[in-house]
Amino acid sequence: MKLIMLGPPGAGKGTQAAKLSVSLSVPTLSTGHILRTAIKEGLPVGLQAKEFMDAGKLVPDDVVLGVVKDFLAKDEFRDGYILDGVPRTLAQAEILEKLGVQIDAAVSIEISDEIIEHRMQARRVCPKCGASFSLEANPPKVENICDECGETLVIRDDDKPETVRQRLAVYHAETEPIIDFYKQRGKLIAVDGTSSVEETTKKLMKALENVK
Ligand code: AMP
Repeated sequence: MKLIMLGPPGAGKGTQAAKLSVSLSVPTLSTGHILRTAIKEGLPVGLQAKEFMDAGKLVPDDVVLGVVKDFLAKDEFRDGYILDGVPRTLAQAEILEKLGVQIDAAVSIEISDEIIEHRMQARRVCPKCGASFSLEANPPKVENICDECGETLVIRDDDKPETVRQRLAVYHAETEPIIDFYKQRGKLIAVDGTSSVEETTKKLMKALENVK
């Protein structure tokens, strides 16, 4: 199964991708997580990405797609994957298509900007493994500690309210048009993302029953 997760920042793409990854036994490729790790490790691609990410802007297409190409060439992604955070622009969607990336479905998680802004204040992430938690909807079992690897959770630099508003503006201008791109190709599955994590996962799994 090859899937793309679409939706605004904070819609729950990463959380749902992690759930689907377990249910469908396919790995997730999260560009945001890869770039944050590259920044932490001081890799050249991290240095190229940092200033864009801190400002809530998109990292240039060639930088992101270079990383995606390298990852998709790895053995673990040969039989399927869930792309979380890419494509983010129409150009990225077109380039992926030209590279021969054929997906089974693009899942769009739909949710209003108001709910997103509220949710982002409650988001905590693991700087080590990338797991994401919500203090309200999906709190860690031990306060401020990652369930997966025991690391102390942090607030993402780009989850500050003014950066969230900037990222939402970028989403509407640059990423939303991708929904039509996949709709025209008969690949779009749209799911309401306002209910609980579990409810949204159930709806997604149901919708995916008809795929493939
Ligand atoms: P995310 O964790 O998916 O919300 O991504 C965090 C940030 O990483 C975004 O706000 C962008 O600055 C950058 N980023 C992640 N994926 C992409 C992409 N496909 N294209 C451009 N920038 C990206």
